[in-house]
Parts: sequence; C-alpha cells; structure tokens
Amino acid sequence: MSADSGLAPVIAPVIAPADAGCADAPVLRERGQRAVFCGLTGIVWLHRKMQDAFFLVVGSRTCAHLLQSAAGVMIFAEPRFATAIIEERDLAGMADCHDELDRIVAQLLARRPEIRTLFLVGSCPSEVIKLDLGKAAQRLDRTLGTDRGAGTGMGMGTRVLHYSGSGIETTFTEGEDACLAALVPHMPAASAGAAPALLIVGTLPDVVEDQFRRLFAELGIDSIGWLPARQLADLPAIGPHTRFLLAQPFLGETTRALQNRGARHLPALFPFGAEGTTGWLRAAADAFGLCPMQFNRVVAPGRERAKRAIAHSQDRLRGKRITFLPDSQLEVPLARFLATELGMVPVEVGTPYLHRELMACELPLLPTATRISEGQHLDRQLDRVRADRPDLTVCGLGLANPLEAEGLSTKWAIELVFSPIHGFDQAGDLADLFARPLRRRDVLRV
Ligand code: SF4
Repeated sequence: MSADSGLAPVIAPVIAPADAGCADAPVLRERGQRAVFCGLTGIVWLHRKMQDAFFLVVGSRTCAHLLQSAAGVMIFAEPRFATAIIEERDLAGMADCHDELDRIVAQLLARRPEIRTLFLVGSCPSEVIKLDLGKAAQRLDRTLGTDRGAGTGMGMGTRVLHYSGSGIETTFTEGEDACLAALVPHMPAASAGAAPALLIVGTLPDVVEDQFRRLFAELGIDSIGWLPARQLADLPAIGPHTRFLLAQPFLGETTRALQNRGARHLPALFPFGAEGTTGWLRAAADAFGLCPMQFNRVVAPGRERAKRAIAHSQDRLRGKRITFLPDSQLEVPLARFLATELGMVPVEVGTPYLHRELMACELPLLPTATRISEGQHLDRQLDRVRADRPDLTVCGLGLANPLEAEGLSTKWAIELVFSPIHGFDQAGDLADLFARPLRRRDVLRV
C-alpha cells in the first residue's frame, strides 16, 4: 500500500489460530452429478434489494416455474422480475429471437417506465445459449440508455446489462456474483484525490445494512458505499482509494472486477457470530487507522449481546457433528462459526467452489480433522454422509427428505441464504437455525 493513501496496512485475522487449522488441508475435489439450484435463484433476493432494477430472465417455462415457486408471494404484487419465455416456434428457428426480445423489452418499458436498470438474465436452453445476450444488452442499452431513450416513449435512461444465471454455468449463489460483477464497470471512477472510502460488497437485508451503517458511523467511518446500492442510479464511486469488505463469501468474480478497478480487498472473517462480526469490523477499523480503544468501546456492547444470544444454543449444539453438502458457498464461514463459537464438530465441509483467497482467514480456524471437499459427486457424497452419520446435515431441499427418511437430521441450506444471519444482532438466530432441527428430533424421539 502506498504511504500516501491515508490507509493503514491490511491486517491479519482477528482470532489467532492455535495451529494452521485447515489452511493447508488437502481438498477432496469431486466432479459429477450435483444437486444445487441454478443462479436464477439469486433474483429472489436481488430484486428486493435493488429497488429501481428489473430482472428479465430469457428462458423456458422451467425457469419461470422456478422463480414463481421460489418467490411465489410476488405473483400477488407488481413484481420486479419476469421471464421472456422461449416458445416452441422460437426453438424451431421460426422467429428471430433478437426481434422477439426487443419486442418484449419495449412492451415491458412502455408499461414500467420507472425501471432504471434492466438485467437480461441468461439461462440453460440451447436457443438462449445461441442468443448473444451480451450483444443484445449492448444494442438495447444504446437505444434506451442515458438520454437516448428520449422520444422513444419507453425507458428513458434505462441501463441494460446482462449476466448468466444458467444452471450449466452457475450454482445457486453465483447468480449474485455474476450480477454484481456486471455492475462493477458501471460504477463511477473516484477522483484522483478522493479520500479513503470503504465499500461493503454483497446483498444484505436492509435492516442488517442499517445496523452495520450505524456501527461504521460510530467507529468514525463515514465514507461508505454499498454494492449493490438500494437504488442502482446511486452506484458508489470506486478507485485506488477504495477498500472493500465482502459481506458474502461467494463473490469471487466481483472481487476480481473490483480489483481490476484498483480497489483493495480487506481480508477478514465473514460477519457471522460474535467473533466473525468483530473480526470483519476490525479489518475495516485497522485499515482506516482507528484507535483500538475506540474500536473496543463501540463494538463491545454488540459483541456481548451476540455472545449471550448464542449461549442459548450452546448446550444443544456443543459436541454435535455436522456435515455441509456443497450448496450456497456459505459453508466454510458457517462451519467456522459453529466450531469456534458453539463447539460443534465439522465432519465434512463441502462447497461448490473453494475460493482460497477469500477463505484465507476462515480456513485456519476450522478444526484440523475437518474433511474439506469442493464440487460434488452426489452418490459418493451421500455414501460418505451415511458412513459418517453426522448429527446434522446441511443440504438442498431435494436431499433433505430422503436423508430424514434414513434417520438423519437435516437443515435446508436455502434457509441460511434467505434469513438475516449477518452481524451481532442476528447471531443468536443464526445459532438457533442449527439448534432447531436437533430440538425437533429430540421432541419427536420416543
Ligand atoms: Fe432455467 Fe436452467 Fe435454471 Fe432450469 S437450471 S431453471 S432451465 S436456468
């Protein structure tokens, strides 16, 4: 870091590991059948966050069904997503898909002129793969983007972007990564003499974002931006004086895009639990050269509150063995939280992709005996679960029922993505999400 940047050097993790934990542990890499939602699922939480955006999935009826069932409540409201369904005549090559897409976008923007950012979201069907959505987005952006929409009667100043949510290319949470990475080139450049600024990256529920905003303000960090912003018209400026903290662990592509714009990643624990949240905040505080006493004064009340809330689940979870099947990419930091703050024993921690750079603070805190796996070969993995017989298995919806039928307690991974789990004030609820299935098992046991 340059001496004149006004920022302190990036720090090491907050909890010093007793040994190297899983920092250098061998990784079981598997390829084969997998059971994970596709990247379209991210639209369910992204559309709630970005209030001036619209997600137009270019896909099949399957894609429409997935979105409707995953976010069923939206069918009663005016939604901020839709599916442009590729019909049979399109598949037979009888229609020009570009003309069809232009027609649907025109209809949409005539009806919803308030849309400021339109995401064209790609999917699996072969006709969609053949359709170059990147070019289509560029073409539509030229027509509808800033000023150029004037006089067309539709979408004046609507920015058109694209990303892929295809199940061939993305798993579950990678849709958010692809979406945020698509936004990075559109963030304004910070001026050369700009003051140091902090950027928080990853979608958080508004209530959690507001809690963190208050904490950063109390710490004295006022220059703070959020990606995604609630209004995409207000994307924060970015440049070499930007330091960014990841709020979500699945943002590898977005991290690279931000680094390409000169921003610096602050390595940190992810803000799960009392210690994770403390470590995450401390990474920012140290980078901005804040006094440790001031840091402790601001953070101590929330940290103590979180510890007390977590303690309610400790008796139920301590010593219990847990396996994570690869799903949301939250697996490694959640296993760290459960091991270090609740005394659980991770047996296998599977993750679709292991971003070592982003997990550099997390892996050393996992117990050395943890089996780390990346990717999935479903049959082999289920064989390992049956052999291990953990007390709790975190997995996708499709696997939970069969495992329950075999007498194994399960937790739906998707619940961890849809629930507010970050920060001090959610730490007790996060612990309880894991305690609940075990409580239910004990109640049902005769
Ligand atoms: Fe659509 Fe492919 Fe996702 Fe199925 S896996 S919902 S076809 S994008």
